[in-house]
Amino acid sequence: MGLTGLEIYKLLPKKNCKECGQPTCLAFAMQLAAGKASIEACPYVSEEAKAALGAASAPPIALVKIGVGDRALAIGDETVLFRHDKRFEHPPGLAILIPDDEGEERLRERLEAFQRLCFDRVGQIHCADMVALECRSGDPATFAAAVKAVLAATDWPLVLISENPEVQRAALEVAKERRPLIYAATRDNWEKFAALAKEFDVPLAVRGENLASLVELVNQVTGAGVSALVLDSGARRPNQVLADQTQIRRQALKRFRPFGFPTITFATDPDPATRVMEAALYIAKYAGIVVFASDDPAEVLPLVTLRLNIYTDPQKPIAVEPKVYEIGAVTPHSPVFVTTNFSLTYFCVASDVEASRVPSYILTVDTDGTSVLTAWAAGKFTPEKIAQALRESGIAEKVVHRKVIIPGGVAVLSGKLQELSGWEVLVGPRESSGIPAFLKQYWQS
Ligand code: SF4
Repeated sequence: MGLTGLEIYKLLPKKNCKECGQPTCLAFAMQLAAGKASIEACPYVSEEAKAALGAASAPPIALVKIGVGDRALAIGDETVLFRHDKRFEHPPGLAILIPDDEGEERLRERLEAFQRLCFDRVGQIHCADMVALECRSGDPATFAAAVKAVLAATDWPLVLISENPEVQRAALEVAKERRPLIYAATRDNWEKFAALAKEFDVPLAVRGENLASLVELVNQVTGAGVSALVLDSGARRPNQVLADQTQIRRQALKRFRPFGFPTITFATDPDPATRVMEAALYIAKYAGIVVFASDDPAEVLPLVTLRLNIYTDPQKPIAVEPKVYEIGAVTPHSPVFVTTNFSLTYFCVASDVEASRVPSYILTVDTDGTSVLTAWAAGKFTPEKIAQALRESGIAEKVVHRKVIIPGGVAVLSGKLQELSGWEVLVGPRESSGIPAFLKQYWQS
């Protein structure tokens, strides 16, 4: 049973300095008691108090790191069941399944295909970010050679899949410096796997046959001194996986310790559409790692995009820097578009301007990363702010004309903006997809 908010409060420094992100120490204590904050957020709490807080201050789901360096994948440390309650913290690793028994040439091709699974989404690069190497050969030397090839080709983290401790040992001798996840300890092999995890200091996946047997197994493995675990309930049918994932998350948030670890799931259906739907379900519902049995970019792109959408912070819109952007080989006669600094808005406008093949400037106004209509309704995209941006951004020195194109959805701003800025205001299309046609019709450069 954890401590109450008031009991935790008594142990806090009571500075009310807000550095933890909460308005008061009491509010922070309440968040800690609810498992929605980490004690590490307070820089002033003493070591004694940390120790006294014990289980109440530990995150409900442990943070597990797989891999090393910049590419290391951190999973777990989640504090909510629903994203809108706060946010989801660590996007699941998307691990591409590669077998070890297809020969060197095929392995090289598979690794090259894996390396291509990076995509530009709203100005950020998102990738499949793990290799799940499966020992189908059953041979320690073959598996170790495949591990070596993977390590030489990529520095993304690894999942080593084999239930044979000798195979895992051979692989770990090669890969130990890269801190791979070993999959999986089961009822039959857990003692040897726990010993391997301790000897090589690597995280360990444990697979039950159902939730009850998973609890038993976790207790055995943690009792043997292994603390970096990843859980697999053993379910493979999506409806059962969903039920288990939900139950694990629910119970973990209630501080049922055996479920206080991130999870691993498998989307391996032979049918591509079903496989993608399985993986999408697991990304949405709490997986720490999704092992995916395809390296087809057409399958991976929607998953990467879904993951990006779910794991953005709903309280912080993704924003681009408010400034003048140049699209193409601009000249002093190029059109000037103005929009907000919500990144999705900016990248839509930028790609449609690019499609028009008319080099243009885009001036983004700081609206705290909100979209055009939201910003307008909130008083953040006003004639005054746009006029100020036209004055202060330096755009007036870059062009010889004085014409600015505003989004069609806020045509109502045009009169006042013209009056305040002295620029001629052209009302652009309501949707950015109309930009190419708009420029063709209205812009003579
Ligand atoms: Fe209190 Fe620590 Fe938060 Fe400051 S950072 S308000 S001292 S809990």
